[in-house]
Amino acid sequence: MKIVIIGAGVSGLAAGIYARRQGFDCEIYEQHSIAGGECTYWKRQGYTIDNCVHWMTGTNPSSELYGVWEEVGVLGNDKEVIQNESFLHVECPEGQMDLWEDEERLRQDMLAISPEDKDAIEEFVLAIRLYKDFELPAKKPMEQMSLLEIFRMLRRFRKLGKVHGKYALMPMPTLADKFKHPLLKKAILAYMPDFYNASSFFYVLGTFDSGNGALPKGGSAAISDNMLKTYLDLGGKIFYRKKASRFNIEKKRAVSVSFEDGTTVGADYFVAACDASVTFHKLLPESHLDKYFRTHFSLRKLYPTYSSFNVYIGVDGDTSFLTDTTWLECEPYFTLGKQQDSFLLKSYATEPGFSPEGKNLLQVLIKQYEPDFEQWRDLYLNHRESYREEKRHIAESVVKRLEEHYPQLKGKLTVVETVSPYSFHRFCGAYMGAYMSFILTPYARKKSHHGKVRKVKNIFLGGQWLQPPGGLPNAVVTGKFAIQRICKKAGIKFV
Ligand SMILES: Cc1cc2nc3c(=O)[nH]c(=O)nc-3n(C[C@H](O)[C@H](O)[C@H](O)COP(=O)(O)OP(=O)(O)OC[C@H]3O[C@@H](n4cnc5c(N)ncnc54)[C@H](O)[C@@H]3O)c2cc1C
Repeated sequence: MKIVIIGAGVSGLAAGIYARRQGFDCEIYEQHSIAGGECTYWKRQGYTIDNCVHWMTGTNPSSELYGVWEEVGVLGNDKEVIQNESFLHVECPEGQMDLWEDEERLRQDMLAISPEDKDAIEEFVLAIRLYKDFELPAKKPMEQMSLLEIFRMLRRFRKLGKVHGKYALMPMPTLADKFKHPLLKKAILAYMPDFYNASSFFYVLGTFDSGNGALPKGGSAAISDNMLKTYLDLGGKIFYRKKASRFNIEKKRAVSVSFEDGTTVGADYFVAACDASVTFHKLLPESHLDKYFRTHFSLRKLYPTYSSFNVYIGVDGDTSFLTDTTWLECEPYFTLGKQQDSFLLKSYATEPGFSPEGKNLLQVLIKQYEPDFEQWRDLYLNHRESYREEKRHIAESVVKRLEEHYPQLKGKLTVVETVSPYSFHRFCGAYMGAYMSFILTPYARKKSHHGKVRKVKNIFLGGQWLQPPGGLPNAVVTGKFAIQRICKKAGIKFV
């Protein structure tokens, strides 16, 4: 039996690996010239530009997700991970602090900074402790779980129950307002867009606290190259520069998929592991758009997305004084005419192989939202020179702000690459240039998609958009789930 997969991102590669393990003939078709999707990298001026990973959930061997990363070749067999002590270092006029990955160290530091916030701090740290147990189910899709398995899963999360109910409905600014000290307030709002609910933040902190979040050594390359190798070693086939244009459907079954180059490929089953907006707005007629995606794509306030403008900067010298990731408040600068007064700064000092000898690499990320994406798109499509000029201008602004803040970097910085939200759309078809899925806001109930296509029996879905808030873990498990759903449909036992 043959499966055709559209898209060679983390989800498509995972689907390919599990398909081969189950003995299916499998072909992946990717529009790009390389695999990896958003989880990719490339070379510029001797530097490795790492497009994706800042942390990966599922690095604790006792988690279900670890098993999946192991099976797709990303973890296990001594594949090294980098475990930082600080999730985020925060620097602003009110002072400096770290969001330590260890909850007790964080508690002590917060109390030292603001003893008068004791009650709020204890409540905050208790929530992190409770969220430590909250892990992404990765063994099988919910509808394939037995009652006993569902019961066991719910029992694990029972301590969290009430607390989760409270924080899932709490906006991030409300969480920050529980603290009196301005440094603590800023530290809470530094990393994630304000639209997120507070439980998303605790989930991240709990993940680190439980040792279930770390950085695979080698970054995005280590993830996508290892997955591709696993797939090819299992005998999977992959075809590049093949942009799917439509599924051909007869009597509620897809018979083939057509590509922009005029070719057509048939199969028994299909996995659409490309961006969900490509699947529903391009590959399938409107009548297949279900209620889930109709509401998620149309109610932009309930299901917002975000992206970032990224600047990669080479440093002629040492950067070991920097924490892995810093949030820096700075003098104002402008992106697309909008005032900004902060950015995230990532140092690649733990990856010396990413830079030429004696040099180091930094990445600056500036949060961008849907109206920004639309402006970037308009500039790229209609005013290309202004697009380039704006990118140049932003890069120069952040270099200036870095030199002001860290005088030891003055004269040592060179811009090597800039990436706008429109780039994620151009290269991966990313909806709204977003590289995570829909934000989990306090206003909309979190729900995952069932992974099937309305009125078609043999197309299954993969990809981070099925399970907000997305990211690598949701991409990899939805790829696996797609094959489990195919196995179920075909009456084959998934092993
Ligand atoms: C800057 C940045 C930082 C990130 N940081 C993290 C992080 O720290 N931790 C984390 O967990 N996640 C992070 N992510 C998110 C992570 O990269 C994504 O969640 C994940 O890679 C999505 O995988 P996917 O397979 O669902 O989709 P994609 O990666 O989008 O893969 C879809 C694939 O389908 C292909 N495709 C699209 N249309 C077609 C077509 N018509 N025909 C053929 N092929 C098609 C695309 O080219 C692409 O290869 C980050 C992403 C970015 C960009």
